[in-house]
Amino acid sequence: MTPRHVKRLLLFTLTAVLLGLSIQQGFGHAWQSQYTYAFAPAAKAVPQSVPTSAKPPAPPPAAPDVPEAKPQALSKRVVEYHINVALQNDARSLYGEQTVTWTNPGKKTVSELYFHLYPNAFLNDKSTFMKESKGKLREDKATSASQGYMKLSALDTMEGESLLPRLHYVQPDDGNTDDFTLAKLKLPAPVAPGKSVSLSMSFEVKLPEVFARMGYSGSFVMVGQWFPKLAVYETAGMRGRTSEGWNIHQYHGNSEFYSDFGIYSVNIQVPESYTVAGTGFQTKAPVSTGKGDHVYQFYADDVHDFAWAASPDFVYVEDTLSGTGIPGVRIKLYLDPAHEALKDRYMHAAKSALTKYAQWYGDYPYSTLSVIVPPKGANGAGGMEYPTLVTAFAAENDNPGYSLERTVVHEIGHQYWYGMAASNEFEEAWLDEGFTSYAEDKVMESEYGVIPNLALEASYMTDPAPLKQPSWAYNSHNHYAENVYMRAKLVLVGIENQIGTRMMQKVMRTYFQKYKFKHPSSGDFQRVVEQVTKQKWHDYFNQFVYHDQMADFSIETVQVRPIEQDGKPMYESSVLVKKNGGNIGPVPLVMQFKDGTSITKEWDAQDSHIQYKVVHDSPLAWAAVDSEYRNVLDNKHINNFMLAELPETKQTRWNLSIAKLIEGLLGTLSW
Ligand SMILES: [Zn+2]
Repeated sequence: MTPRHVKRLLLFTLTAVLLGLSIQQGFGHAWQSQYTYAFAPAAKAVPQSVPTSAKPPAPPPAAPDVPEAKPQALSKRVVEYHINVALQNDARSLYGEQTVTWTNPGKKTVSELYFHLYPNAFLNDKSTFMKESKGKLREDKATSASQGYMKLSALDTMEGESLLPRLHYVQPDDGNTDDFTLAKLKLPAPVAPGKSVSLSMSFEVKLPEVFARMGYSGSFVMVGQWFPKLAVYETAGMRGRTSEGWNIHQYHGNSEFYSDFGIYSVNIQVPESYTVAGTGFQTKAPVSTGKGDHVYQFYADDVHDFAWAASPDFVYVEDTLSGTGIPGVRIKLYLDPAHEALKDRYMHAAKSALTKYAQWYGDYPYSTLSVIVPPKGANGAGGMEYPTLVTAFAAENDNPGYSLERTVVHEIGHQYWYGMAASNEFEEAWLDEGFTSYAEDKVMESEYGVIPNLALEASYMTDPAPLKQPSWAYNSHNHYAENVYMRAKLVLVGIENQIGTRMMQKVMRTYFQKYKFKHPSSGDFQRVVEQVTKQKWHDYFNQFVYHDQMADFSIETVQVRPIEQDGKPMYESSVLVKKNGGNIGPVPLVMQFKDGTSITKEWDAQDSHIQYKVVHDSPLAWAAVDSEYRNVLDNKHINNFMLAELPETKQTRWNLSIAKLIEGLLGTLSW
């Protein structure tokens, strides 16, 4: 997901800093916007099964796109879903039926399953999601009418025995018994290792007006996290687990998702006027029900989720892409009509991003990539990733800045870290968002010449927190975003700055190649860094990943003393440099003398501080530590400089630092 307006916000905030000379770097209220929610009661209607001999449909905007079958499974395919779903009640609700099969990937017999019922996050303001988010996510604000929910109406064995009475909602994270987003099902018979269980389920979803990634806006619907979805059963050794078991969490205000790979076959029934975009590919052209509806049929394998969007207004644009690591992908744009004039920019961003990621990290093995541009009122559904399908943001004017491309580039980056590496976003969200933000910057720089101002971004890390911790442990959405997106990215750049771009490229590629489709952990990534670089990285990860360190260096004092040496008047200049955060040496020190002489020293920064003394025939003018901000984890640049003379050292720091910040600001104007 994209934390909207982070960059622009930085600019605004920086301006405030410069104007007010106050360091209020919080992300403030700029992510909020007001939404009015209308509640439409759900109605029941059973979708028709797909007729086999229906009359020919009207020419679809998206022709079926059956790819060549993949020679072998890329993932373990632990789950298999066959879903029929109907959009109904004026596109305000869904009725679905699914058969889900789960194959025990472990070595122990399993006697319970866990299902995520994510729409229940929007049931009322007592859900864990609503309590934690206080009804706000990014710019969206829920109102009392923003209700959504999922009702299970049937849960049967394949023999027809109802298991519904066995279902219990559980709240392993917070004990909030008003939360209905996670359910435990004790099976009537345990599942042996390697064996499968299939269940038949019926469910109804009341869609909220677009909020927190899903819902309706006018006749547009974004349907994500919409079916009862199995949790991930982690095997021993996976993500450092010593014993196998379910990884179960509720839906939280800050957390995105984690699920297992498998097969999805999904039939989606919508009014004939609608076009449907979905994960995977269409197996054939939409089929008419003969009653005013069309059924779209999608299939996807080696993915861990299925999302779709539908609208009668989509402008459809398609192009193909092939090249290194891209066997032949249909790029499908589903644009809100207001964005038709920008279609080439969206398409260019999608093609450039996929081309770069495939070159850098590895093959994109899917045959489609869909980009949905929601209408203006539905940006709560924008900037989000699903397997083979992403949502961009609606442009706010006719001449949007690079944020248009950046969002597309970011979400497509997720195809690698969320989609294929498939990190656990409940517990280690940085492995997805931080990696995606890092990769996004690389594409924006190489494709669009937009150079990130990392020093400026680092200066906003006022409340660093460990990167490996539950997403709901961050104390706000901004706190989550600052850490798992920005600080995580800086931690990656910090590695790159030490090992070089080529070695970093090798690290990222090796990590992706080794762990695609395997749900890697922070420890797995650390091991790859150590194997590729043949160095120990324990200290670095311990400080910056597992703990909340930044790496601030400061000039503490500058003193100039006139002395006499061999009968000549000289000056003894001394500079005290201090390490205030974690170890990330060496750092350069520049001592600039009044006669123009400049001395550069390199401090290994092993100790907590160092004093440099230089005797020279001219007095010291100023000293600076890491004046070019190569240490991207230095979050306090204000103390990197000091003039030698002025008595009011604080004022001096400001003057110099503001000059540097203005340089930074000028750099950001090109974003
Ligand atoms: Zn993201």
